[in-house]
Amino acid sequence: MSRLGEARFLTSVAATAQFPADVGAEVAFAGRSNAGKSSAINAITQRRGLARTSKTPGRTRLLNYFELAPARRLVDLPGYGYASVAAAERDVWLPLLEGLRARASLKGLFVIVDSRRGLTEGDEGIFEWAQGDHRLHVLLSKADKLNRGESAAVLRATSARLAGRGTVQLFSALRGIGLHEAQETLASWLGLGSRS
Ligand code: GDP
Repeated sequence: MSRLGEARFLTSVAATAQFPADVGAEVAFAGRSNAGKSSAINAITQRRGLARTSKTPGRTRLLNYFELAPARRLVDLPGYGYASVAAAERDVWLPLLEGLRARASLKGLFVIVDSRRGLTEGDEGIFEWAQGDHRLHVLLSKADKLNRGESAAVLRATSARLAGRGTVQLFSALRGIGLHEAQETLASWLGLGSRS
């Protein structure tokens, strides 16, 4: 049984003044567009359709907060990697990222990476952003599309590229591969204790 509580949409943040109170613990989810981030969030929180909120028009470039338990939050970051963000949007976006990184409650970052594609430049950028006080965990998504040899190879290659900066695992929202491990990692970072 997952230690994660019932997830619910909390708020969208479009300006630094709109962040929820910086108390408790939160973990951010990032990934290239189409990497499978929404599917991963839905599977991990066991709330099908939860992360669809982040895909509704007008919310795609915002930080979307979900509450998993009192003062325990998941932050869904906009997908990156497609056409470069317009300058005007960047002016909004960069302060938001800086604001997020400065929060005492931010414990770490899950980065969703398509296992068939491997790490991209955008992923490296977000690793740099997270460097310092934040833990890093990579989900190699859509692992159901790989055979055993391919799975082992991408796991090895990603682990080598991470070079100790974080942890990595295979994941499939579709087949539940690595689901328990992802849930346990998130729950432990959020300080959610075992269910009795
Ligand atoms: P996002 O843009 O990163 O939020 O990605 P989505 O979660 O919307 O998924 C992008 C595409 O990948 C969709 O067509 C999903 O059906 C597909 N996808 C997501 N997770 C999996 C998975 O575990 N296995 C497979 N085979 N496809 C997946």
